[in-house]
Amino acid sequence: MTDLRRQSLTAYGTPLCETVVACPQPQGSEVLVRITRCGVCHSDLHMQDGYFLLGEDKKLDVRAGRALPFTLGHEIAGVIEHVGPHAQDAMPGRAVAVYPWIGCGACPACRRGDENICAAPRHLGINVDGGFASHVLVPHPRYLLDHAPLPASFAATLMCSGLTAYAALKRLAAQAALGPVLLVGMGGVGMMGLALARVLFRHAPLVADIDAKKREAALAAGAAAAFDPGDAGARKAVLAATGGGAYAACDFVGSERSLAFATGALAKGGKVVVTGLFGGTFTMPVAMFGLKAIAIEGIQTGTLAEAREVLDLARSQKLAPPPIGERPLDEAQAALEALRAGRVVGRVVLTA
Ligand SMILES: [Zn+2]
Ligand SMILES: [Zn+2]
Repeated sequence: MTDLRRQSLTAYGTPLCETVVACPQPQGSEVLVRITRCGVCHSDLHMQDGYFLLGEDKKLDVRAGRALPFTLGHEIAGVIEHVGPHAQDAMPGRAVAVYPWIGCGACPACRRGDENICAAPRHLGINVDGGFASHVLVPHPRYLLDHAPLPASFAATLMCSGLTAYAALKRLAAQAALGPVLLVGMGGVGMMGLALARVLFRHAPLVADIDAKKREAALAAGAAAAFDPGDAGARKAVLAATGGGAYAACDFVGSERSLAFATGALAKGGKVVVTGLFGGTFTMPVAMFGLKAIAIEGIQTGTLAEAREVLDLARSQKLAPPPIGERPLDEAQAALEALRAGRVVGRVVLTA
């Protein structure tokens, strides 16, 4: 029996440490994937803490619903190793990206294909053991997506940051036909959003970030203009650059200030999609919804169908991967700490 090596969360708010158990034998339609890459994501930090910040010192406790030790990590790519008796069409040796946003299969959301917003999710690395490990058990081969010729590390990050950015932009397609989208926050998801917006939409996007280096990187990657939301004149500058406001904006940060900036820069009839989970409380006079006819929509990653779409798009449009740094699996804790300290440019992927 092979060992299953994991960098485990054994208590909330404490460093990950290695635990070793016997590798599970896949049952029924299950597939055992030997992991080659697993991306490290900001939400892993919140999971390690056990809460999300809601603003005004309030916290959303996310410790319920999973047994410790637990394996974080949801940006997984690997190779099919063993298959259950009802998963015979999954070929051992196939290199795959793993769609991690797996639902219960029975609730209304799952029945219409929205497993990412399932009422009783089995999301890998969130609700059931994920990818900071040598292997992961996947309940059905339909969650395993071929990614060749994209490198495994890029395919892995597409399952979270790429998928989220893609799903957000899809919901802005009608507004993006009217003018350039405004992308707020040029971290990992934002930079993926920029690359995708350039191939999906007619107008080159506008970007906003408080970090001059990130604005520079976005301009180099094809943004039409970059704004510093910390600058008092930034909102007016966006209004001027768009002839009265943006019809489409995406808030990849999800903070009080980022959402205030995004909504403030909208034209009448505009829409903001929020993907970021930074935290805080956003307020706006209720009458502004009607007076400006604006919409604010939140999304949580994307569906299995959208994961296939973003892989196809990355392949057909030859999207350049974001800068990806690789570290061995046993440096998972150090990788989380670097992310927490803001020392990571692009994405970090663990190699098993
Ligand atoms: Zn993620
Ligand atoms: Zn469900």
